[in-house]
Amino acid sequence: MNEDHGMDDGGIEEITLDHDPADGVWDDEQDWYALDAEFADELDDETAPLPIVAIIGRPNVGKSTLVNRIIGRREAVVEDTPGVTRDRVTYDAEWVGTRFLVQDTGGWEPEGKGLQEAISTQAALAMREADVIVLVVDAVVGATATDEAVVRTLRRSKTPVVLAANKVDGERQEAEAAALWSLGMGEPFPISAVHGRGTGDLLDRIVEVLPKTPRDDGVRAAGPRRVALVGKPNVGKSSLLNKLAGEQRSVVHDVAGTTVDPVDTVVELDDRPWRFVDTAGLRRRVRQASGTEYYASLRTRAALDSAEVAVLLIDASQPLTEQDLRILSMVIEAGRALVLAFNKWDLVDEDRRYDLEREIDREISRVPWAGRVNISAQTGRAVHRLVPAMDLALESWDKRISTGRLNNWLKEIVAATPPPMRGGRIPRVLFVTQATTRPPTFVFFTTGFLEAGYRRFLERMLREEFGFDGSPVRISVRVREKKQRNKR
Ligand code: GDP
Ligand code: GDP
Repeated sequence: MNEDHGMDDGGIEEITLDHDPADGVWDDEQDWYALDAEFADELDDETAPLPIVAIIGRPNVGKSTLVNRIIGRREAVVEDTPGVTRDRVTYDAEWVGTRFLVQDTGGWEPEGKGLQEAISTQAALAMREADVIVLVVDAVVGATATDEAVVRTLRRSKTPVVLAANKVDGERQEAEAAALWSLGMGEPFPISAVHGRGTGDLLDRIVEVLPKTPRDDGVRAAGPRRVALVGKPNVGKSSLLNKLAGEQRSVVHDVAGTTVDPVDTVVELDDRPWRFVDTAGLRRRVRQASGTEYYASLRTRAALDSAEVAVLLIDASQPLTEQDLRILSMVIEAGRALVLAFNKWDLVDEDRRYDLEREIDREISRVPWAGRVNISAQTGRAVHRLVPAMDLALESWDKRISTGRLNNWLKEIVAATPPPMRGGRIPRVLFVTQATTRPPTFVFFTTGFLEAGYRRFLERMLREEFGFDGSPVRISVRVREKKQRNKR
């Protein structure tokens, strides 16, 4: 028994490969088709997108309690995005054999004024992303003005909405649940998230309206490339957008075959339309004086979710801040192509320039792959360099490397620098394939755990060989032991 995560030869699955990739000679692309097929099922398991069920509603109506009820408090968090307050958390869930993701948007308490706006944003985001929306209302409190505002937003939704009337702990509250018919969101499902009452019926309903396949990214990929302008307040996002939009004769409102979302701005740059997403606030130059940082981060999140490439603006004239780094993390977690735009370059002198380089070395060295342009949204300096930088980042983001090339590369890398020993054995890296693009995601099949340091090494080598400038790259490892034929 070795200590490779409790695996021993007894529990090992048989893999029948015509060749053992670690020993054989591999120059025939045909062989890779066979191997790709061999691993395809597992890859599908890992990379096939699951439909998303978003749980939305006012604070304290019981969203988190319901999420815990749905996941049975057992499931691991698959994605936890720490923000200022808890942002969105996604969990794996299953009901009568149907797998899906539950997204909890709760856990925050914006002060009174920003509440309606924050929840409407939450609803709009869910409408964009989720496959089913569950609106939770506190049946005991009844429908509030905020609930009604959310319903007004949701009414435009093409995404199915299921209304959960929570806190119906007993028959006595059933009448209060029925009163929620008045919201005009269809049948209210009376539930008690705390006790589990009625949640089975609710889940039946959710699964019933869940699409067979999650919403297709391919549909959203049509039309002009989508750009998110992100960065902390006052960094120059609206100035940049106005500069870009102002330099052309007219802002495009319609692009053949696509309707432009009124919250987006389409601008023609280098003779091509580019769609700057979620810019309504920027265009109107609404000062979100009362806006909480949470609200700002929700907006950033929404923009990143709809974008393909992010232009992260950083104020070059001021020291880098925590907030800059947090937004950088959001871009990477969202898996978007990235361009760093150091703005207000007109204010940068020799001394500041020196300090900035040191700050960049210290704080941003974890994204050495990100393209960088030094611009001034005010004077227009170097703004024309944004387009080539976005093009390069998107090209990397879309890039696919053939399995044959990848494995020939892998063989050399592993021969020259094998993974470090674990539990007295050197894990073998059997096979690598690019599971997805946007961002490029690589799955390595191995006979043992690969340490973080070695995974970073693989990423570095991948980038060195194949490029990917401007795009995050994801590395995933599947431990899969091979039954040794001679040990039977
Ligand atoms: P969230 O802010 O919407 O995520 O709400 P929470 O899940 O944190 O719940 C808010 C409060 O309502 C907590 O004190 C819960 O215990 C309570 N609560 C949630 N569901 C129920 C329910 O079905 N019945 C009753 N009586 N209380 C509930
Ligand atoms: P936003 O909050 O990110 O949209 O930032 P704004 O575009 O509203 O800009 C905030 C302030 O910075 C405004 O006073 C702008 O005039 C100023 N600003 C924006 N870009 C530049 C720049 O390149 N140079 C200088 N000197 N000021 C700028």
